[in-house]
Amino acid sequence: MAPRVVIIGLASDFGCQVQVTNMEDHLLDVLGLMDLAYWQLASSGHLPDEYDVAVIEGAVTTAEHVETLRRARQTAAVVIALGSCAVTGGIPALAGTADFDSRYGVVYGDGVQVAPGRQSPMPISSVISVDYHVPGCPIDPSEFVGVLSRALMGLKDNMPQDPMCAICKTKENVCFLDRGYACLGLVTRTGCGAKCVSLGRPCSGCRGISPEANIAAARTVYADKGFSPLELDRLFDLYNAAREAVL
Ligand code: SF4
Ligand code: SF4
Repeated sequence: MAPRVVIIGLASDFGCQVQVTNMEDHLLDVLGLMDLAYWQLASSGHLPDEYDVAVIEGAVTTAEHVETLRRARQTAAVVIALGSCAVTGGIPALAGTADFDSRYGVVYGDGVQVAPGRQSPMPISSVISVDYHVPGCPIDPSEFVGVLSRALMGLKDNMPQDPMCAICKTKENVCFLDRGYACLGLVTRTGCGAKCVSLGRPCSGCRGISPEANIAAARTVYADKGFSPLELDRLFDLYNAAREAVL
């Protein structure tokens, strides 16, 4: 029997699930290998009680999310984190960088009743163990197909670990740091082909901080280039505000 796959969304804009809908031909490559039993964005049915692979998008922001994750971990043999929000906390984790509770008042005014059980946004690995990771904001659909195929075939996660600058050099990009722009390629996990830099924008770190990155040395490089520690921390925070939960 084909493995039953479910796609679940937590706190996110569902952009990575939209990317999955954009896979078209790529998706057909793996559809024959699985039974897509539930897809939160695209199906009106309910999450089934039994499934084998849970693909989970979004950050954890409520007690309900925590419960959903624990149930998914108990039920599924394989858990795949889909996109930056799930892998690093991503953009939602920005809300946790200051006094989290005060933020509701700033947005909705004084005295607003907020849902109980909310919590500072975190990556899903802060609650359960994760078997496979698809970083990026949004994900690259073909990378997702590759990771899903590996999961279905029982191969290990092969998420790239190195920082990105080496790829940038092979593409002969002129370094943004040398041009006076802050670029997080020095510390960001490779695997996107230095996409933004090749398109003329500095890297903002959407694939998360590389475990191989030498953060202290990178801070020295950034300081030498004239960027203050505060400026650098702000850059880090865009996709890696919950970095202590990941590193
Ligand atoms: S810092 Fe940015 S622009 Fe410079 S080499 Fe690294 S990724 Fe490329
Ligand atoms: S260059 Fe940086 S920000 Fe752009 S896709 Fe790659 S990791 Fe993400």
